[in-house]
Amino acid sequence: MTLPNKDQMQAWWMPFTANRAFKDNPRFYVAAEGMYMTMGDGRQILDTNAGLWCCNAGHGRKEIADAVHAQLLEMDYGNPFTYGHPKGFELANRLVADIAPEGLNRVFFTNSGSESVDTALKIARQYWRLKGQGTKTAFVARVKAYHGVNWGGVSLAGLTGNRKSFGQGLEADFLRHTLLPENAFSKGLPKQGAELAHELSDIIAMRDASNIAAVIVEPMAGAGGVIVPPEGYLQKLREICDQHNILLIFDEVIAAYGRVGAATMAGKVGVTPDMITTAKGLTNGAVPMGAVFCKQEIYDTFVNTGDASAVPEFLHGYTYSAHPVACAAALATLDIYKNEKLFEHANTISQYWEEGVHSLKGLPGVKDIRNYGLLAGIDLPAGIAGKVAAKTLEMGVTVRPAGDTIVMSPPLIIQKEHIDTIVNTLQEAIPAAQ
Ligand code: PLP
Repeated sequence: MTLPNKDQMQAWWMPFTANRAFKDNPRFYVAAEGMYMTMGDGRQILDTNAGLWCCNAGHGRKEIADAVHAQLLEMDYGNPFTYGHPKGFELANRLVADIAPEGLNRVFFTNSGSESVDTALKIARQYWRLKGQGTKTAFVARVKAYHGVNWGGVSLAGLTGNRKSFGQGLEADFLRHTLLPENAFSKGLPKQGAELAHELSDIIAMRDASNIAAVIVEPMAGAGGVIVPPEGYLQKLREICDQHNILLIFDEVIAAYGRVGAATMAGKVGVTPDMITTAKGLTNGAVPMGAVFCKQEIYDTFVNTGDASAVPEFLHGYTYSAHPVACAAALATLDIYKNEKLFEHANTISQYWEEGVHSLKGLPGVKDIRNYGLLAGIDLPAGIAGKVAAKTLEMGVTVRPAGDTIVMSPPLIIQKEHIDTIVNTLQEAIPAAQ
């Protein structure tokens, strides 16, 4: 494959990338299969990030390619406004049956995690209007959160720098993040910190529940540095939202579809929010698609109140909502997850993953290690994570620096020998980078 030269690289304004630095010193991926990416120079690199937290069944799955090909030939596209197609309904039913926790049995399709988040926020606002409580418009989010890049998600993002360029967004208050020094090197759910949820009561006391539409949190935070919720924290958030009549939204764009060793984090910890936003693993990253799971009561409030009329109940949707090609990719992906029991495999092998990543404790500069399911975060001194990532890349393993944390989220098909390679590589790369 011919790679572009510097002149040929100018037109593409690359996302979340230092464009000038990239174009001076580019890195190319040209192929992918299973656990590996092929670089422009032909080297095979072990992918510890499942692409960007999305290729949960591994790369290059033929079943998905075949389903996409067949769908393109059968029906490439159909207008989703006021027309339906069978695969949209089939996929919604499969998601309700196999992925969403009990009670979240209505599905709205989007094309990305950012769109799922903004969709959920719009549903929350209109829901309260329909209930005659139209003053409930504000949101509560959390520091270190990432909710994508659309207006709602950006307003509610608590990641450093993520909002600084864009001016005024939605009205929001922020809970503290749940990273506590006393929980350093916790394995799985940390023991301390459930009481941090009570900050929500303080925010409600200040702003008043009559003004708050919803609380949104990543129940298992990814981009902020793999932040695992303290035991009992999510339950307390649920209780406080219930007491004050506030909707609870879990943003599971990373967590859902097996990443935590179960279909969703909500299901894993037994806390059911009012909505769950998803994307990424829904199609194994092969075709853009997102889905918002809603409680039936929310759907009924929009759809099944008053007289049936020809007016759309929710003036929202995308040209590509439930795109037939994305539906075909998602159905093939769900089949792989089920047939290969990948969520169960992720759960089982997560023990070995935990032991492996925690064996890095004691290396120079390692300040904290966190893990849950097939996720891990390693905190390093300022400025080191990027150097570690560059070093592991040289050694044949890609890891992702998120601020000062190395984050990892390998495909769920990972085996023990891959974990050994990742751990051995980091064992050498972390000291070498400092
Ligand atoms: N929400 C969460 C929790 C995410 O991690 C992401 C992306 O990483 C998003 C939303 C945005 O998803 P997308 O990049 O598909 O718009």
